[in-house]
Order: sequence, then structure tokens, then C-alpha cells
Amino acid sequence: MDSSIMPTYGRQDISFVKGEGSWLIDSKGNRYLDALSGIAVVILGHANQAVADAIKNQANQLIHTSNLYRIPNQEKLADQLQRISGMDNMFFGNSGAEANECAIKIARLFGNRKSIKNPLIVVADSSFHGRTLATLTATGSRKVHAGFEPLVDGFIRVPFNDLNAIQNIAENNKNVVSIFVEPIQGEGGIRIPDRNYLQGLRKICDDNEWLLMLDEIQTGNGRTGSFFCYQNYDVCPDVATLAKGLGNGLPIGVCLARGKASELMQPGNHGSTFGGNPLVCQVASTVLDQIHKLNLTKRAEEVGARMVKIFRGRLGDLNAVKEIRGMGLMIGIELNKPCPELVEIALGKGLLINVTAENVIRLLPPLTISDKEADNICEIVCELVESS
Ligand SMILES: *Cc1c(COP(=O)(O)O)cnc(C)c1O
Repeated sequence: MDSSIMPTYGRQDISFVKGEGSWLIDSKGNRYLDALSGIAVVILGHANQAVADAIKNQANQLIHTSNLYRIPNQEKLADQLQRISGMDNMFFGNSGAEANECAIKIARLFGNRKSIKNPLIVVADSSFHGRTLATLTATGSRKVHAGFEPLVDGFIRVPFNDLNAIQNIAENNKNVVSIFVEPIQGEGGIRIPDRNYLQGLRKICDDNEWLLMLDEIQTGNGRTGSFFCYQNYDVCPDVATLAKGLGNGLPIGVCLARGKASELMQPGNHGSTFGGNPLVCQVASTVLDQIHKLNLTKRAEEVGARMVKIFRGRLGDLNAVKEIRGMGLMIGIELNKPCPELVEIALGKGLLINVTAENVIRLLPPLTISDKEADNICEIVCELVESS
């Protein structure tokens, strides 16, 4: 591997030179079915024509002006997201971690305005929120923390999907100002909480005047059958973050806020040089238009259900399989033992998958995937698991 690149990733020794919808092509001309889409990013598939046209047309017109001026494309995207989300306003950055930093800063402002000296944010075990210092602290993984101490103050950790643990904190700790969780834990292994979890969190937040903040960076953009996963549970948070699929590969992160949470940021409190520039906003608007036009949230729900049914039918009774979980096109197959080797074996069979939390095969295909491609993914994954 190239020693001029910091070795922060354990990379596969393969590179791709071209994409076509759900397919990637390597330098030797081999074709691979992409069941990962660049970690839930390329939701419209590779080399999408509408996205390519949006990039080309906008780049020929104007790429960047800075947030010192009004940006009509940013205002248009904000209007679209406001209508979809039910939130009041939003801040544009360039990544998921940045969107979450904004959420954490909103919670701090909220606490400090209430004159709480040490405002605390409740976060969950096995969560993932990013790699900046505050977001890695919020992340519930020892591996992500290790070596970066001192961590950031102001977080308190509970088990995921445990309302009692949070209720207990509410009764004993007057410094809490917010709960910050993923509606479904992605990196943590596609962990789907109980049906009443988000509503339970909403109630605890209302009873205690805390902000409910949801990290929808992986679950958002239509992947779970609604544009935001919280919409599957009929709950509205005070703060939500989006990134990954919103730009179909162009870097964008958004922190959306509602009600009192939307009134805290003032000029000078936060910023970004690149965030929300004319190019990336035009592309994200195009992505939203395509999701709407092609009814991709519904499509994600249908194809996801089809895949989970196939997996349960063929793998459900195997000793090697602990659990098969999915909501829309966010699917996890938990095995009884660590299985990192499956990534390379799948590559040899022409399929890109990911293994997360050591023993969970994670599938995050493009939302535009066809039934035939979905069946193809299922066939190869079933073969992998059956022979593991
Ligand atoms: C990927 C991810 C992040 C971090 O996003 P980056 O763009 O890599 O900073 C944060 N939260 C969740 C749930 C994610 O899946």
C-alpha cells in the first residue's frame, strides 16, 4: 500500500475505475455488484445521469461564494428539507461528524442558556457518531476512543434500547440537557430498537425539558422506508442530522433543528467555509427530486423486505446465524462468530459487502437497485454464510 497515505484504514487491495448504477468496474474490467454503495452514500447508484448533469451545469455556472453572501441553491435545498422533515431551520456542513458537532453545540447552548454549568448529553453504548473529538467521545466504542484521551466532557452513557436506564438518569441527574442516539445503530451492527423506543425517548425529553437529537446520517435519505427513520415511528425530534446519501457522493452534512432548538444559534456561533456551497446544494436538491420522482423510500421498503424474506428463508435456521435484522435497505446478518474474512471472499465472487461490529454482515445497497440485482446479492451472501 502507498506509504504516503496515513494508514487510518485497513484497505482492500483493489480499486475501481468506473461505476454503472449498482455496479463497479475495476482496472482489469471485472464487474462487482455494490451492496455497500460507499457506506450508504451512493443512493442513486454510480454515474447517475441526473447527478452528473447537475454537477456539470452548476460547475459551469458557479461553484463557491462562501456563506458571507446569500446562496439561492442553499435556500432552495433548505426549503425542500424543511418540507420533508417538519423541522424549522438547518445548518450545512461537509460531513456527518460536522453535522453532529453542530447538534452537540446546540445542546451546549441550550444547557448554558438554562444556566446549567455542566450540561450533559445522554449517548448510547455501541453508537457511532464520527471521528472528531466531540463526536468520537459521543461514540460508544472503546476502540474509537483509545489513544485520544483526554476525551471531551459532558457525555453520559447508557445501554442502547434501554428506556429505564435513561429514566433513572432523569430522576437522579439535574445536569442532563439532551439525548443523542441513532434510530437504528449502523456501525454498531444494524441494531433496531424496540418499536416504542423513540416514542419513549420523546416522552422522557418532554417530561424533563431535554432536547431529543437523532443521528440520521446512515438511516436518513429514504433508506429505511421513510425519508427519516423517525417518521416510521411517528416521532419528531428537536434536532436531526443527515449526511452520507444526501449528495450521492458529494460531501454534505446537515443539522436540522425545530422549535426552541432552532432559536439558539446566532451570528458568530458556528460556521463553515465550504458548507452549503452552490454546487453541493444543487446536487443534493437533485438527489431529493430523484428520491421523490422515483418513489425511492417506498422502493427501499419493498426491496429490503424482499431481501430479508429471502435471508430468513434460507439462513434463518442455520447454527452459524444468530439474527437477521433489517429495515428498508439497511440489513444486517449477525453470525455467531467474527467474520471479517467474508469481505474478501465476497469480493472474489464479485460482490461488495461490509462486516461491522466484528460479526455482522452489513448490506446498504443503492436505493435504485433492481429486484434482479437484489436477488443476486442474496444468492451470493447466502452462499457465503452457508459455507462459513
Ligand atoms: C457515517 C456516520 C457518521 C460520520 O459521518 P462522517 O461523514 O464520516 O463524518 C456519524 N454518524 C453515523 C450514524 C454514521 O453512520
